[in-house]
Formats: sequence, C-alpha cells, structure tokens
Amino acid sequence: MTISHHASDELLLTYAAGKLSPAPALVVESHVALSEDSRGRLGVYEALGGAVLADSPLEDVSENLFERTLALIHAPEEKPAPAAPIHIDNRHVGIALPAPLARRKIGRWRWMGPGMHYARVEMPEDPGINLVLLKIASGRSLPMHGHSGTELTLVLKGAYRDESGRFGPGDIAEEDEDSDHSPVVEAGEECICLASIEGPMRPHGWIGRVVQPFIGL
Ligand code: ZN
Repeated sequence: MTISHHASDELLLTYAAGKLSPAPALVVESHVALSEDSRGRLGVYEALGGAVLADSPLEDVSENLFERTLALIHAPEEKPAPAAPIHIDNRHVGIALPAPLARRKIGRWRWMGPGMHYARVEMPEDPGINLVLLKIASGRSLPMHGHSGTELTLVLKGAYRDESGRFGPGDIAEEDEDSDHSPVVEAGEECICLASIEGPMRPHGWIGRVVQPFIGL
C-alpha cells in the first residue's frame, strides 16, 4: 500500500489532544493503522503531550512545557477501554477492514443512487456525526459539493481524484467549510471509503442532493 495523503499535523495534534469526537477519531485511528508516516508523527505528538500543544498558541509551547508534559504523563489515563471483542461479523462489507473499524458493527449496504451505496458504522456514542462507508462504482463522477463541517474520508479500496489530487487505499482526505470538491472514481475498480461527516452537507453537493433524503445527512 503506497500512501500519498497522510494525516495533517493539525489533525494528528487534535486527535492526540483528545479533542476529536469518536466518529472522526475512528477515521484517524483507521488511517493511522495503515500509515507508518502518520503513526510515527502521532507517536511523537502523544509523547510530547498533544493536549499541551493543542491548547497553547505555538509561541507559548516552550513555557513550562517540561512541567506540563510531566503533569500530563502522570495524569490518570482517560481513554475508555476499547469495546469488548464480542463476535462482530462484517464479512458483508466485502473487503479487509483496518482493525479499529473491524471492531465496529457495520450495517448492510443500502442503495443511495445509481452506482452508489452506503453502510452505516455503528457509533452510538457520537450521534451527531454521520459515520458511513461509501461504495461508489468505477468511473462515476460526483458533482461539486461543499461541506458545512469537517469531513474526513479514508480510502479503503479503489481510488478517486479531485481538486486535491489522487486518493488511493490508505489515503485520508480532510475537507472543511472552506473547501468544495468534485471527486471522480477511477475507472476499473469501485471505490470504498470510510467517511465521518459533521453537519449537513451543502445543498449544491451530490451528497446533499442524492444522499440527504436517504440517510439524513
Ligand atoms: Zn466532500
């Protein structure tokens, strides 16, 4: 797997600081499971104390950093225990899943438009964010769309291109309110992505027009 779009430093810092809600955090964890580069940088940020860095303007980071990092290291572990590995059968998804995603129950594929399917990833602890797998047929172009919140997309199979380049397996795309894009799935293979979508999609978008009535995005 050759990954060309790794997580940004900003995204990894936000995650390390515990400031991502569970749905986007799962996308980051699934990407980090695949990307040695992102895993390495995340390790550094966690060691440095992501909370300290993310809470501070950069020029203030050096002030008391050592003491604050020590305090953080000695702070009680707040991460909840991972869900019990009860039997979860996600074989209907049809592809190998990164470990953090495989531990989640995934609903069945549902039709949402010609050549497009989605499947919900169960995430009851984060009801405000849509966490879905999207399966888009090869060669399909998606009209330009915008976002009303953060949209993180991790490619699991196939590839698409948009204004930011080509995204293949393991690549993560970070979109926000300021970005519009028009993804086109490459010919020859369907594309399966894991996406966390915060806030309603902008109505001019393909998701706004096509997906919204079906899954309430
Ligand atoms: Zn988008």
